[in-house]
Amino acid sequence: MTAFWAEPDFDAHECVQLVHDRKSGLTAIIAIHSTHCGPAAGGTRFWHYNDPAGAMRDALRLSRGMSYKNAMAGLPMGGGKAVILADEQRIKTPEMLAAFGDAVEALGGRYITAEDVGITEADMVAVAQRTAYVSGLPVAGAGNAGGDPGPFTAMGIFLGIKAAVRHKLGKDSLAGVHVAVQGTGSVGGGVARLLAKEGARLTLADIHSERAAGLARELGCQAVASDAIMSVGCDVFSPNALGAILDDAGVARLDCAVVAGGANNQLARPEHGVLLAERGILYAPDYVINAGGIISVTLEYLARRAGASADINEVRRRLAQIPGRLESIWAESDATGVPADVVADRMAQKLIGRG
Ligand code: NAD
Repeated sequence: MTAFWAEPDFDAHECVQLVHDRKSGLTAIIAIHSTHCGPAAGGTRFWHYNDPAGAMRDALRLSRGMSYKNAMAGLPMGGGKAVILADEQRIKTPEMLAAFGDAVEALGGRYITAEDVGITEADMVAVAQRTAYVSGLPVAGAGNAGGDPGPFTAMGIFLGIKAAVRHKLGKDSLAGVHVAVQGTGSVGGGVARLLAKEGARLTLADIHSERAAGLARELGCQAVASDAIMSVGCDVFSPNALGAILDDAGVARLDCAVVAGGANNQLARPEHGVLLAERGILYAPDYVINAGGIISVTLEYLARRAGASADINEVRRRLAQIPGRLESIWAESDATGVPADVVADRMAQKLIGRG
């Protein structure tokens, strides 16, 4: 068996902790990639992995992505991520969440957690019974930011798609622009609703086909089978499900001018960014365009630590900076011929002191 530090995805992570609690049955990995910019912040994923090595890979890649994401968003946070290894039945108990909260608490604030795939706001409330190092908790009062990061992530992606359409297609309006949305959950559903409001033409897909069909009925658009969405002829392909979809076969199937969506780790390997560039497809680096949620989570966390509430206008102000950040990446990529993902990685590595 290969040691995890010999894995290609191990990137001098500061700490990788395996958590096992016999009483509750919790098995989790907490990966802290970098605390250069501040405590490592990133959500917890609850997922069934056929192979535990897949969970380790996810924790290593996602935590590095969080270092890049937080740095590029100008947040005073490092990068970390937790994965809870679900069993086949995906049984999640209050005892498991309590044990997970204890593990986060034991790290003394080096890692701050929040929601990710498979974890709800209610789960985070349960975790918060055991640790203060948590965010994405419900907030009361109009004008206060916080809670489920999904809608903030969706808003950032929507703004990023508008910027990509302007950059690649020279259009200031989304009216009639065809966007194929993969995944209609918290993020993808939110992106689709925002796009529909601006007159975009949508095609939706989800492995839970009823979810996509229901949203398509609501928005008056089309839904297709989940294995067909990547080859839909469109202006923008927006991946909002799981990662590593841009592999050899995935890139070859694309029939679009832009890839811009919220899924983490969309590129299966770095060479797939080169393939996209060679095909003339504009790519919005995932950790730049999908930073809206962590912006909200971070401001909520910092405000709560100071005994205050996060101001929604400050979250909106920071969300509005996402298009400009993408523009500067694309401008450098256009000027140098270096693919957009590599330009972004280099910028992020500099910011976390590894450039
Ligand atoms: P979610 O669980 O609410 O939604 C994901 C949706 O994708 C589900 O409806 C699921 O059925 C669908 N799906 C899964 N595999 C699919 C496939 N192969 N084809 C089509 N649909 C598929 O999760 P979410 O919070 O919307 O997150 C979506 C992605 O965005 C994830 O990669 C997540 O890591 C990333 N992300 C989320 C946030 C956030 O704030 N929630 C922030 C940053 C990044």
